[in-house]
Amino acid sequence: MSGRIRIDGVSIPFADGQTVMQAAEDAGVHIPHLCYHPDYAANGSCKLCTVAIDGWQTSSCTTKAVDGMVIESNTEELNSERRALTQMLFVEGNHHCPSCEASGNCKLQNQAYRLGMTALIFPDFTAGRATDATHPDILLNRDRCIYCELCVRASREADGKDIFCITGRSENKSLAINSDSGTLADSGLQVEDAAANVCPVGAIIKKRQGFRKPIGQRDYDERRVHHNKVRLPNLPKLDKAPGEKVSVATCSLAGCFGCHMSFLDIDERIIELTQRISFDRSPLNDIKHISGPVDIGLVEGGVCNTENIETLREFRDNCQVLIAVGACAMDGGVPALRNHLDVRDLLEESYINGRGIDSPQIPVDRELPYILEEVSPIHEVVKVDFFLPGCPPPAEAFWLILTDILDGRQPDLPYDLLRFD
Ligand code: SF4
Ligand code: SF4
Repeated sequence: MSGRIRIDGVSIPFADGQTVMQAAEDAGVHIPHLCYHPDYAANGSCKLCTVAIDGWQTSSCTTKAVDGMVIESNTEELNSERRALTQMLFVEGNHHCPSCEASGNCKLQNQAYRLGMTALIFPDFTAGRATDATHPDILLNRDRCIYCELCVRASREADGKDIFCITGRSENKSLAINSDSGTLADSGLQVEDAAANVCPVGAIIKKRQGFRKPIGQRDYDERRVHHNKVRLPNLPKLDKAPGEKVSVATCSLAGCFGCHMSFLDIDERIIELTQRISFDRSPLNDIKHISGPVDIGLVEGGVCNTENIETLREFRDNCQVLIAVGACAMDGGVPALRNHLDVRDLLEESYINGRGIDSPQIPVDRELPYILEEVSPIHEVVKVDFFLPGCPPPAEAFWLILTDILDGRQPDLPYDLLRFD
């Protein structure tokens, strides 16, 4: 039976046997999803495509369209549930986009952009599942798998091989390989198989082909996603007299100073800024401690040692508004890649067993801060008021956020300035 359904007030047609998702996709109406693929049987596992039909929530990829159906999809309630699911997927795996070959071609990252996700709100929960690099041409990074089962379905339905399956539950859940050794090496998976090409994230990737597509040619480059602005959380208003300068402090914890470099890329507008702000502690002026209460603190980098904790607490105690700047401050970033390895092993590799080491010795000195077992995002140590994503955030984003605050506006980031890569 064909007919018409109404999604968010828009009437669209559907053909006999189509689901709500299929009708929406054909009509160019976007319903967020991760596990849906037009070529494979729907399995309704990711739940991002949940819509409300006559007030009842259901997966749009498994619900058949019925003439006259009234469907809500783009509501704050549903998008907030979708954001929470996306947040959980991010912390449940090794999702450090700036170092991932799938960045820009990844459906999870794209959904995060579309849903306006600006920071991780749950603690890191990476399960540390084994990576399989045994295949000559294909690599499986299980900690990036989002259990969409697309490789499972593609292997079964398109390749006729049945190579993949999901095993276990909760943190023991994992993608298993149906082969004698349990690895990809003797699985019969070939690089041209549908199962090797369907992964929507960076879990199944082809070797020697990463980072080849330039920005602008990737599947989900932000300019191909139609969005206007990302509403950021409300900031406390600064209480300043007219003409009074706003004080700003900045620091870099476990970061590369790339965010500070990007900030300086506002170029000559820094002169305009210095008419309206005064810099307190900052690597820009080499002042080592905050002199007293300041208005805005910008913190780059994750927390990797005890000195970082002290610095961060000094910032929180003294900054009215604290902003986490860049991927490392928001989720640990590249420094947090070490979280999957033992600290002792890392130190031995760096100072004793590594190449080109003259006098092997792990440095021990009271002047050296104590290294922490794991690198953490800063919001796991202190309360953060605001997140500025990117690796690094573009100079324009610094300019906009600061001038919005200076002019007493709530900051709005245009969509193309919200970056996870
Ligand atoms: S780009 Fe890579 S790291 Fe980022 S969400 Fe996708 S799979 Fe995860
Ligand atoms: S490996 Fe990729 S395609 Fe397979 S279940 Fe995981 S995310 Fe989905």
